[in-house]
Amino acid sequence: MKILSATHLTKQYGLAPNIVKALDDVSISIEQGEFVAIIGTSGSGKSTLLNMLGGLDRPSQGSVKVDHFDLGKLKDEELTVFRRQRIGFIFQNYNLVPILNVYENIVMPIQLDGKTPDEKFINEIISLLGLEKKLYNMPNTLSGGQQQRVAIARALASKPAIVLADEPTGNLDSKTSDEVIELLRVTSQKFNQTIVMITHNPEIAMRAGRTIRIEDGKIAG
Ligand code: ADP
Repeated sequence: MKILSATHLTKQYGLAPNIVKALDDVSISIEQGEFVAIIGTSGSGKSTLLNMLGGLDRPSQGSVKVDHFDLGKLKDEELTVFRRQRIGFIFQNYNLVPILNVYENIVMPIQLDGKTPDEKFINEIISLLGLEKKLYNMPNTLSGGQQQRVAIARALASKPAIVLADEPTGNLDSKTSDEVIELLRVTSQKFNQTIVMITHNPEIAMRAGRTIRIEDGKIAG
């Protein structure tokens, strides 16, 4: 089943004559359960693309559909709710809430939404990510790799349509990066979870099921 499609996406910044085309007629289609890496050098348009796919910003032209919802048809408030409920984000800096413990961080987006966490599913995620013994720890007592595992658990907890990861191993050493990428790969398979990850690192990208290369705002293969 197709879970995400971007059609003829263009994003430009600035005004004539100083227009930057950050994305230029990009179309991609992603099936449920795929683990896709978007690779490209700095400035190639990766973050811009991820922001459009996650509804964090709107394209100048073109459309994004996630789980049959056309993001361009949603009003700003509807888009905010859609993002919270259907999209999981993982960032380079983990973005955990410092005053909440590990478990509280994991269930926070679900509780913000006024929903009750699916305890059985959350326990499965916690055990897969090896966080059982850390649930009452505060984020600042964890290593970078452990903090990123918490961020992964948080992104998966609400069973989002897609998880978007922005350089998830950018702050980790290579051994920990390997472990984190492996966990993303395994969770994608085990839970049929669609994951789209951006990276500038070809070795990291190779670990994904599919690689999409972007150059100067265009798909290059
Ligand atoms: P990447 O994530 O691959 O490093 P970006 O998507 O951040 O690339 O940027 C693509 C291009 O768009 C770059 O030329 C960048 O300078 C430009 N750009 C990105 N965001 C903005 C913005 N808010 N205003 C103006 N130009 C921007």
